[in-house]
Amino acid sequence: MLGQMMTSALTISSLVDHAARYHAGTEVYSVNTGGGIETTTWGQVGANAHKLGDALSKLGLDPQARCATIAWNNRRHLEIYFGVSGAGFVCHTINPRLFPEQLVYIINHAEDKVLFIDATFVPLVAAIRDKCPKLEHVVLMDARDDAAAAQIEGLTFYDELIADADAGFEWPDFDENTASSLCYTSGTTGNPKGVLYSHRSTVLHAFASNLKDCIGNSAMDVVLPVVPMFHVNAWGTPYACAMVGARMVMPGPGLDGASLVNLIDTYKVTTALGVPTIWLGLLGEAEKAGSTLQSLTRTVVGGSACPPSMITAFREKYNVETIHAWGMTEMSPLGTANQPLAKHGELPVDEQHKLRENQGRPVWGVEMKIVDEDGKLLPNDGSAQGDLMVRGHWILDAYFQKTTDETLTDGWFDTGDVATIDGDGYLSIKDRSKDIIKSGGEWISSVDLENIAIAHPKLADAAVIGARHEKWDERPILVAVAAAGESPSEAEILEIFADKIAKWQVPDCVVFTDALPRNATGKVLKRNLRDEFGDVLMS
Ligand code: ADP
Repeated sequence: MLGQMMTSALTISSLVDHAARYHAGTEVYSVNTGGGIETTTWGQVGANAHKLGDALSKLGLDPQARCATIAWNNRRHLEIYFGVSGAGFVCHTINPRLFPEQLVYIINHAEDKVLFIDATFVPLVAAIRDKCPKLEHVVLMDARDDAAAAQIEGLTFYDELIADADAGFEWPDFDENTASSLCYTSGTTGNPKGVLYSHRSTVLHAFASNLKDCIGNSAMDVVLPVVPMFHVNAWGTPYACAMVGARMVMPGPGLDGASLVNLIDTYKVTTALGVPTIWLGLLGEAEKAGSTLQSLTRTVVGGSACPPSMITAFREKYNVETIHAWGMTEMSPLGTANQPLAKHGELPVDEQHKLRENQGRPVWGVEMKIVDEDGKLLPNDGSAQGDLMVRGHWILDAYFQKTTDETLTDGWFDTGDVATIDGDGYLSIKDRSKDIIKSGGEWISSVDLENIAIAHPKLADAAVIGARHEKWDERPILVAVAAAGESPSEAEILEIFADKIAKWQVPDCVVFTDALPRNATGKVLKRNLRDEFGDVLMS
């Protein structure tokens, strides 16, 4: 017997329609690519999304045609997220920091038909346009601009495209499992791989992220997604905010500490989301500017391990709660978020703080397990380390244009991370499996060592890699970037590890460098560091 309840497809368009109807006057502030800040509303974003859906439908594209973006976080990008998916096309966000050859590969692999770009990327796209033969329309996300038009043949303009379109355009009906958006992994090994999200997976992910035990956005919030919309859909923030009608602050191209502090203070941001490196800049700048970040109540930090010293700084200097989250492109991205349990309230405050440092526990919709190299289940005891496997409603089944067989193992996706899980499900990421250091049969977590090193006041940045060693196979070494105006000695740096970890885990040496190499999503390229410094311990 079936239940007798109404059913309708869980669609992305329903999110923006809700926001436009019940939060029509709620503001969306948007930093323009060319400077200046524009104020719009969910009502206007919704109307423009419908207009864009109408305009795209009139271009004669096939259903499910890929419409790509190379753009900052701004209100037009927000309209594109909803207008493209709502009209049944696939919104394919592209990371502009990829190498041009990778951009060409991705555009051709996805068979993008439309490409929306911000003015910043006109030269980039002009240089690769000829190598993307299937691309039919390049649209500048702005008003008419003749200088830009001279650089890209056939360039059209967003504002003109939607000017005469119909705000009453009706979204087409389709199955909720229809593809909605596409995002490629950053491809640190081999070519980038596409992850094709569905309407259903995106809506469920938004629901879960709005739970109080996760990120917990509400209509009372002012949300600043610093994480780019080309990085796993800004962690789903546009969808989650539309679902609850939160105010949004779209930061545009300026992601430096000073610009962010200014936005937070001006628009009374309550929640900001981004990777740890962004917050390093912000904390430094807030201190310099004398800002107390008064309105900010929480930051969501993920993408790389959040150093405990950052959580402490946010809490003690600014009274801001850090929600440490973990996930990946293949997971839409949210897997876990660090929120406390009721029983933690009985613990001494120091212990409560310590418990907020790991990557947190799964939100409803995600299951996790750890296994050994033979695939045998390991206990959730907080100390057994193994390969982290996941499954759930918003985790990929297969990469775009690949079959499932090679992606999953017995229905589970191998994250490539090595982790422990405790009895309450709290996850602690130790490393990417390819980065963990194997010293004489023992594993050493580079993440643990980096978390300690980065707190050193004389360091600006730090990474730990395994260097080849004659006796132990591998030993940890610290690759360090000195803070401005500092030139610390090796001994001075290594002192910070004393009493914090077992002696045999302390790095064998420190090598100083000017800057750490990072990939397009800001992750340290450990392979490059191993190429450069991997032999420093060999005689
Ligand atoms: P990429 O495209 O580089 O794979 P993702 O954002 O998908 O970019 O990267 C996912 C990986 O990032 C995870 O598998 C994990 O190794 C790392 N990561 C994400 N969040 C955290 C975190 N909070 N702590 C430690 N590592 C993290």
